[in-house]
Amino acid sequence: MTECPKGDHEFPDEDDTGAHCDEHGVTLLWHGPPITPEDFAPEPHGRRSAPPAPRALGQHPH
Ligand SMILES: [Zn+2]
Repeated sequence: MTECPKGDHEFPDEDDTGAHCDEHGVTLLWHGPPITPEDFAPEPHGRRSAPPAPRALGQHPH
């Protein structure tokens, strides 16, 4: 278990993703896997009518 930084006790809530102390309002998150570009990709179902990328129009990059 991990000790709460604001109190002399262990986190009552702790799992693989992090720990949380309701009493002190402290939340710790463990380091997860590295962030990949895909994590920044927009959600497919949240997408509006996005303009086509320049490359899709056949324009030369230079
Ligand atoms: Zn605490």
